[in-house]
Amino acid sequence: MDEEAASLAKKLAAYRGVWVFIEQTEGEAAKVSWELLGKGKELAAALGVELSAVVIGENVEHLCREAFAYGAVKAYLMDAPVFHYYRTESYLRGINHLIDKYKPEIILMGATGLGRDLAGAVATVVGTGLTADCTGLAIDDKRNLMQTRPAFGGNIMATIMCDKFRPQMATVRPHVMPMAEHKPGATGEIIRETCPVREEDILVKVLEIISDKKKDQVDVAGADFIVSGGRGMMGKENFAMLQELANELGGVVGASRSAVDAGWMPQERQVGQTGKTVRPKIYIACGISGAIQHLVGMQDSDVIIAINRDKEAPIFEVATYGIVGDLFQIVPAFTNLLREM
Ligand code: FAD
Repeated sequence: MDEEAASLAKKLAAYRGVWVFIEQTEGEAAKVSWELLGKGKELAAALGVELSAVVIGENVEHLCREAFAYGAVKAYLMDAPVFHYYRTESYLRGINHLIDKYKPEIILMGATGLGRDLAGAVATVVGTGLTADCTGLAIDDKRNLMQTRPAFGGNIMATIMCDKFRPQMATVRPHVMPMAEHKPGATGEIIRETCPVREEDILVKVLEIISDKKKDQVDVAGADFIVSGGRGMMGKENFAMLQELANELGGVVGASRSAVDAGWMPQERQVGQTGKTVRPKIYIACGISGAIQHLVGMQDSDVIIAINRDKEAPIFEVATYGIVGDLFQIVPAFTNLLREM
């Protein structure tokens, strides 16, 4: 090994452990944090290191115990009023302080609005790489984190690594990883860190929080049963047929981007790369061809039923059950069958 390589190896070896940032609002964790602990546990086992949670907020110690139940063995806790509301500046300083002191080799965050904001800021200040919206994470034989994500408009899956800097940072969208196993009562070590941030040093002040959630907003990402329609639905009015089927299943209606772009469904129902990632028990794709950008958002569903009149449609490659035929005959027949059951 030449001198330069030896010095790099020494620099990288100073970093140990896998961290998952526990995103929370008013003391309630975002589910993606628990999903990431499941993946984090697998990565930590492959590296032979500890899995830790990073909990930042006010009155959030209970989240450390929750993190232990989801597989973390250690939790770094920063609990102070200055962290009550998320602000990039305060959370960035908090995490930076932890990174400087404890040097993790991997940090995972949810690809939520908050996670995307914070991860980018941390990676910039620390001077390391960040791969956003990963769909796969694994460890190679040189302890590098192999971070896979769609690239070039979803036409290829790229595997990216950051082999010269630490920590290695990745964000993952909600529902991409399965939930970690939950073992209530599991214990771990809480490391309480003194807050390195003073309120007067933070430029942004939160005056009021106004939720953008509409009262009747449908949560496609959290649904167990989704009936999705694509361009094959031929018009907005035909989505009523999908709603009837979804009602019988106790589910919700989703859509492909073509259906959203056509104005047949609102954007919040879009499934796919630029929409929601879903992982329902049953996903029924009606008149959706199965473009890669759609598949990356739903291919991990437990059961996929595809209805398409083109037997060559790519959606059939990921379907558990495929029905070749006219959706305008099949969907109502399906709904009637369920009603008779
Ligand atoms: P089409 O591809 O036109 O397919 C319609 C299907 O309906 C056909 O297979 C046809 O055989 C079938 N059909 C027609 N009539 C009937 C009938 N009577 N009965 C049965 N079947 C019928 N797409 C997404 O969905 N989500 C995303 O998040 C997304 N993000 C993107 C991001 C980027 C950067 C890009 C470049 C594209 C993205 N797309 C996304 C678009 C994607 O590439 C496809 O264009 C889109 O998914 C196609 O939608 P579709 O399957 O509804 O339409």
